[in-house]
Amino acid sequence: MKKVVKFGGSSLASAEQFSKVGDIIHADETRVYVVPSAPGKRDSNDTKVTDLLFKIYGLMKAGKPYMKVLEQIKLRYAQIIRGLGLKVSLAKEFDEIRKKLEKGAGEMYVISRGEYLNGKIMAAYLGYDFVDAANVIRFNDDETLDAEETYKLMKKHLDAHERAVIPGFYGSKKNGEVVTFSRGGSDITGSLVARAVKADIYENWTDVSGFMVADPRIVKGSQVIHTITYSELRELAYMGASVMHEDAIFPVSQVGIPINIRNTNEPEAEGTLIVERTSRISKYTITGIAGMKGFVSLSLEKDKMNTAVGFCRKALTAFEEYGISVEHMPSGIDTMSVIVRQKDFADKEQQVIARIEELCEPDHMDIESDIALIAVVGRGMKSTRGTAGRLFSALAHAHVNVKMIDQGSSELNIIIGVASVDFEEAIKAIYNIFVEARL
Ligand code: ASP
Repeated sequence: MKKVVKFGGSSLASAEQFSKVGDIIHADETRVYVVPSAPGKRDSNDTKVTDLLFKIYGLMKAGKPYMKVLEQIKLRYAQIIRGLGLKVSLAKEFDEIRKKLEKGAGEMYVISRGEYLNGKIMAAYLGYDFVDAANVIRFNDDETLDAEETYKLMKKHLDAHERAVIPGFYGSKKNGEVVTFSRGGSDITGSLVARAVKADIYENWTDVSGFMVADPRIVKGSQVIHTITYSELRELAYMGASVMHEDAIFPVSQVGIPINIRNTNEPEAEGTLIVERTSRISKYTITGIAGMKGFVSLSLEKDKMNTAVGFCRKALTAFEEYGISVEHMPSGIDTMSVIVRQKDFADKEQQVIARIEELCEPDHMDIESDIALIAVVGRGMKSTRGTAGRLFSALAHAHVNVKMIDQGSSELNIIIGVASVDFEEAIKAIYNIFVEARL
């Protein structure tokens, strides 16, 4: 049994948090590869180390003094080292960073140092080897990940270390230049390590006890999802629900390594297990609910549309020509609607409308904005009769008018469109019927 464990910034924000992490790792000797983020916020007024590093880079670029901010970062690490009673010194590392800054270091190098320094402390604290991510994560010249080379390098380097700490978030090009993933990218590092070392499980430790059935800002005290499949997660993530970086899914889902989302502050909670497939029946008919505001529906009407060959294609061409991605396309006999994201459509709407007029010559065109989409996702829906019936009667009872319905062909999800003002009510009503009432 071999586990790869990744800890997020809030799990490593202070010496107290570090020691919780230490306890978690020592409690299970199969937790052999550790991927840390940079120290995050200690409270809501605090600043993440990565954000301080961004600030340093901005000041350096503007030719302004940045040493004060660097001192602030030094102090944060010094507090962690002292709080843990460690003897390590980061003086040499800070000296090198300062020298590189004086020579005009690149942005990615600067912002990656939070993880690098935290990795040094973590390795010293655990007594694990330190493996610089720059030596095992390879980026192409265009800054995309070279996954094949990364797996090769990881295998080569990590085979030599029984237990190691590999800092998250960055890697390097062949010439040694540091490249980072996008924000939150330590999740990807963890996933790549898990795949390279053929881990049995990838534990992703954060500050929530798993993936919630519904957004806890809308449904107070929402239940945690116990087991979710990668495809369910993808559906929910697409609709805005997130607990981890979306690029972290693919490396492990491809080879069937499960991800376990765990809470550093509540280590006894089982968290959420994300798996390729499962025989575990979910507790409720639905697995999760997620949604987003900010959609526009453009409806077209044309007499005998059903016999007008190519009508849909022409309408979609107008969107394609302006680079707008179409989310949904519910249709009737003589009507069709195209649902797109408001932010993609707003600037180009007049051009798109003109193009549709020209290509499709509709009898009538109508635009409705401020639409919210809600995805109700669950592998259990396929085998449960009456799910849609219960869903819509719950919405009717909550006085929510449904503007659009779309059931994916996999029967994994039902997507509904409602007015943005009804968004929260609709989510609560769906949660209540399936989770609270367990219908
Ligand atoms: N420290 C980086 C960030 O704040 C990466 C990470 O935490 O995953 O985005």
